[in-house]
Amino acid sequence: MTHSSRFFDFYRRLLRIQAEVEDSIKISKSELSNKTVSKRITKGKTILNFEDLADNWPLICVTFDRVTTTFADYTDLFGDIPKILLKEEPQKILTKKMTRSWLEGKILPTKLAGEDINPALLDLLIHQTLRPFLIKHSQVLNSLVKQEKWQRGYCPMCGGKPDISYLEKEVGALWLICSRCDAEWRFRRLMCPTCGNQDPNATTFFIDDDEIYRLYLCDKCHTYLKTVDLRKIKTQVYLPLERLLTLDIDRQGQERGYRPGYMYTHDI
Ligand SMILES: [Zn+2]
Ligand SMILES: [Zn+2]
Repeated sequence: MTHSSRFFDFYRRLLRIQAEVEDSIKISKSELSNKTVSKRITKGKTILNFEDLADNWPLICVTFDRVTTTFADYTDLFGDIPKILLKEEPQKILTKKMTRSWLEGKILPTKLAGEDINPALLDLLIHQTLRPFLIKHSQVLNSLVKQEKWQRGYCPMCGGKPDISYLEKEVGALWLICSRCDAEWRFRRLMCPTCGNQDPNATTFFIDDDEIYRLYLCDKCHTYLKTVDLRKIKTQVYLPLERLLTLDIDRQGQERGYRPGYMYTHDI
């Protein structure tokens, strides 16, 4: 099997787990009032926080175990998974404290029970574990966000960074998509969502030959953002999947010396 077909095989397995988990998540109808949400949004605070996820804590631990085991079956793609992750009970590894830290974008540990762990791998495992929970909550809370009041570079639902964006069909407005929960929010065009840079002399963008994909580069924080121009596409597009179909654009950004904006705050 080639490297890329191994990757898609892995990704299919991961998606199947996440879809199963998403079906079993219980969410009590949001107790947040419109007033509370609007107050949080005005102050730049996200709607979703750790307490909202904690109702499903046992399921989160089981999911962490399933996700870790899946990664361990693909060492050719991800390298060896530290033994501690596979032999220890998931709730002893993925603590509530660590989950909260991840959600708040804090630095993750480099050792677990005395064994070294790459924080980038830990970040990825927690991300893929929490993804179905964040997506489900985000879908429930989505209608409470007033788009015009949120003009920030991070997600109004969970605080995640965007990893892809699109220009909408009608007026070509820019929408960012959260790397964690797939929520979409409107953002100013030609402004860097990572550092807020708006200087036209410190931003560049490239358009591919079919004019469908754009790569925005920020010369202040040296990050890039991928954009799909929906005005140029006739068929239906599933944007979360576009992340994977545009890996070549990531490569182009990285070859030019830039890194993805959503990785900016993580110490990896
Ligand atoms: Zn989000
Ligand atoms: Zn920037």
